[in-house]
Amino acid sequence: MPLVNRDQKHYPGLAQTTNYNLSSFKAAEIITRDVVVIGGGSAGTYSAIAIKDKGKSVVFVEIKNRLRSRTETYKDPKSGRGIDIGVIVWYVTPRVGSEPNTTGAVFDLKTGRGLNAPPPNQTAIGIAFQIYTQQLLKYPELDAGMFLPDPAPDDLVMPFGQFASKYGIEAALPTMYSFGAGVGDILATPTVEVMRAWGLSLISSLQGGFLTTARHNNSELYGKAQTELLAAKSLLLRSRVVYTERSTSGVRLVVKTPTGNKLIKAKRLLITIPPKVEILKRFNLTTQETSVFKKFLNTGYYTSVVKNTGLPDTLSVTNFSPDSPYGIPKMPAVYTIGSSVYTPGLKLAFYGAPLTNVTSSLPAKTVKDAIIASIKRQQTANPANPTSFNQTTPTFAEYHSHAPFWLQAKAVDIKAGFYKKLYALQGIRSTFWTGGAWRAQDSSDIWRFTAEQVLPKVLKGL
Ligand SMILES: Cc1cc2nc3c(=O)[nH]c(=O)nc-3n(C[C@H](O)[C@H](O)[C@H](O)COP(=O)(O)OP(=O)(O)OC[C@H]3O[C@@H](n4cnc5c(N)ncnc54)[C@H](O)[C@@H]3O)c2cc1C
Repeated sequence: MPLVNRDQKHYPGLAQTTNYNLSSFKAAEIITRDVVVIGGGSAGTYSAIAIKDKGKSVVFVEIKNRLRSRTETYKDPKSGRGIDIGVIVWYVTPRVGSEPNTTGAVFDLKTGRGLNAPPPNQTAIGIAFQIYTQQLLKYPELDAGMFLPDPAPDDLVMPFGQFASKYGIEAALPTMYSFGAGVGDILATPTVEVMRAWGLSLISSLQGGFLTTARHNNSELYGKAQTELLAAKSLLLRSRVVYTERSTSGVRLVVKTPTGNKLIKAKRLLITIPPKVEILKRFNLTTQETSVFKKFLNTGYYTSVVKNTGLPDTLSVTNFSPDSPYGIPKMPAVYTIGSSVYTPGLKLAFYGAPLTNVTSSLPAKTVKDAIIASIKRQQTANPANPTSFNQTTPTFAEYHSHAPFWLQAKAVDIKAGFYKKLYALQGIRSTFWTGGAWRAQDSSDIWRFTAEQVLPKVLKGL
């Protein structure tokens, strides 16, 4: 083995303290490609397939045992049906399929009580979205990425709650909050950080419809990409980079794989994992890269499938906080406890955590206890309801942490040109970047940004 010095545990969070004698790798341990892509989420999978389709050689490194990242599909053992509890929809029309309606209700999950909230005023919501769209159209460059005017206008950096009251679009806030789950406290979030998800493509899809899959199993897309890349010997699963050398002429990476360390030599490196400094320590960051990435903050977003909740099967609960502005709960909080009518007995519970500079997840116990407590509060607060709120002990069939999620910058840093500095990192030492942090937490936008803004740079001259 080519390891010559002390080798710490191979975790991406550790500093690059190990030296590797790259000349000692045997031919069978060396992989030579045009491009090496890191991270098998939506950005990486799209990129690896696109690079291969362009006739360039690629090797793709994913830390887990399968591609798909935040696209998580729970397979109900009883019915055999899939339930997407991660990525659910993409933009495009027409709608291919959706679950029949469940009964939506608004509950204050701090007390467990159902609320008689008036039905949303669709006219007011429609007008609010029209006004919001007019505002978006003032910044057409944002449709392609975080291309802000320089200097950033105050409107783009003010807290989104202030922006909403300035332009009288408060009626849109509950919709934006529920569709933008995971952003953190939306009212305090700089406006451009909301706009990057709530861009023109999402607005037009609200009218035109979304694309989902008929079998409610978005993971199939990633399964097919995985099969194709494995067949082309272009995919290393359960693998992670432990050492990196980068220069203007190419990159050399040592990757720990289940069959031993490999040396990857490539002309270009494309990194799609969340660009937090702790996560990228093994990539030998430059001072310029570190100084930009350390400004990124993130939220946490947690998804689960819960059994034995005692709640009515068709009831889908949205958390509403009567004592908060616009009823939007302050994070951390449960967003929804929803139903999947195809799989009675199961609930989908979503939980959000506020903005922080801590990259790691909240402990699973903290999140699970908060979800169970909110279900128990509903059981207790609705004992005599004939549609039955039974006193049960809920358990988790599935649980996922999506932290760090929704990487974003503070208003002061955005004003100081954060996104210009971020995009200026493309190409340094043959290294390119894409993914949610670079565009939005939205697969369709990530694919478009990658295709238009990143891959042409990666492929140039290859
Ligand atoms: C619950 C939920 C629901 C969502 N719903 C939708 C939706 O309906 N529609 C939509 O468009 N978007 C949705 N999104 C957002 C979308 O999933 C994300 O924006 C998108 O997955 C981000 O993709 P990415 O490639 O940037 O990064 P990630 O998804 O973070 O993928 C990164 C990948 O890199 C891997 N990795 C990490 N570290 C390493 C390492 N050191 N070496 C190798 N591999 C590594 C990870 O395992 C992961 O596979 C949802 C997100 C969540 C959490």
